[in-house]
Amino acid sequence: MREHRITGWRRGAPLLGKPDFVFRAAKLAVFVDGCFWHGCPRHARIPKTRVAFWKAKLARNAQRDREVKSTLRRRGWRVLRIWEHELAQRNEAQLLRRIRAALSGLG
Ligand SMILES: [Zn+2]
Repeated sequence: MREHRITGWRRGAPLLGKPDFVFRAAKLAVFVDGCFWHGCPRHARIPKTRVAFWKAKLARNAQRDREVKSTLRRRGWRVLRIWEHELAQRNEAQLLRRIRAALSGLG
């Protein structure tokens, strides 16, 4: 983001759910979600062993993600969730569009 002159963010700001980036003035919280842990539709696969354990665990993660999002929204925040795989260089342009759209209130 520094490279692209997107400013006003900080890391590790104390906010519910520990967002990866917080734009305080814009009240935008950005989470970077691991593809496996957060059940990315493209990359998440339930491991072949201990299937019940993993299903329950990943379902809890997804539930928690939803709760964090709705609570932050009730408090007037906008929430942008980014998949780990979107951080790849080839996805950069699209990702920057999403961040800019969210910052300008269109997200
Ligand atoms: Zn993914």
